Amino acid sequence: MELVSLPSEMRRIAEDLRRRDGTIAFVPTMGFLHDGHLALMREGRQRASVLVVSIFVNPSQFGPNEDFERYPRALQKDLEKIERIPADYVFAPDTRAMLPADTETWVEVTGVTRGLCGAHRPGHFRGVTTIVAKLFNLVQPHIAIFGEKDFQQLRAIQKMVHDLNFAVEIIPHPIVREPDGLAMSSRNAYLSPKQRNEALALSQSLFAARELSAAGTRDPDAIVQAARRVLDRSADIKLEYLEAVDWETLAKPSAHRSMLLAVAARVGDTRLIDNIALHNPA
Ligand code: AMP
Repeated sequence: MELVSLPSEMRRIAEDLRRRDGTIAFVPTMGFLHDGHLALMREGRQRASVLVVSIFVNPSQFGPNEDFERYPRALQKDLEKIERIPADYVFAPDTRAMLPADTETWVEVTGVTRGLCGAHRPGHFRGVTTIVAKLFNLVQPHIAIFGEKDFQQLRAIQKMVHDLNFAVEIIPHPIVREPDGLAMSSRNAYLSPKQRNEALALSQSLFAARELSAAGTRDPDAIVQAARRVLDRSADIKLEYLEAVDWETLAKPSAHRSMLLAVAARVGDTRLIDNIALHNPA
């Protein structure tokens, strides 16, 4: 496994691999890896001859009052975990090499980034899509795996790839959860044991809604209310949003189409997100 830090070097390696007919799978991450990240890597490993993983805590996707500075970092431990997959290359560029101070070009997806997290984190998705576009140019993957944990991010990347004709196939990967249901996240490391217990209400609210939907209730408002009742039991959860949206477009839902129920909340200072697909069985 080779650690690459220079963007120019990553690009040279990718061009070389492409010339030799290798198929490149790519898993971009911000590091502090957990089993959710590793599941994406295993999927990439199976689907292609070469696996590239990136670790880059992207400052442009954090707002001025967000946790960029204190975001957990553990490069050595991460490398040990990736070695066990194994990946072929780990691309871990410097902040300034990836995002020079004189950057004037940004990639912005409009429609699907408007609601949900986009409404609460101005500029977040612009930061994500810009860096992912740059990573795609440097790594030149045939496929890239993204987790459904960040469902709106997945839709934004899919739209970017479609609109800008990137030659990469986006593979969604289901959310990996702890045995008790909590969606795995690097930010779970911020939670005290008590907060971690409180945080369970997020996934539990989604599971309650899924039960209702599976029993035949398709009214988005009734589904949101069922989830809300579970969240309301936890005094320490500050809800940012709880919304049912169309699973494809993330716009207004319809009882006749598949829906996504998405939640964002703060437990203490920690912002957590989760979601569940409520597919239309018809
Ligand atoms: P991050 O390091 O949080 O930027 O995440 C890197 C990739 O891992 C993204 O595609 C995430 O959606 C994905 N990911 C993070 N947590 C999970 C999870 N619990 N299950 C599945 N994918 C995840």
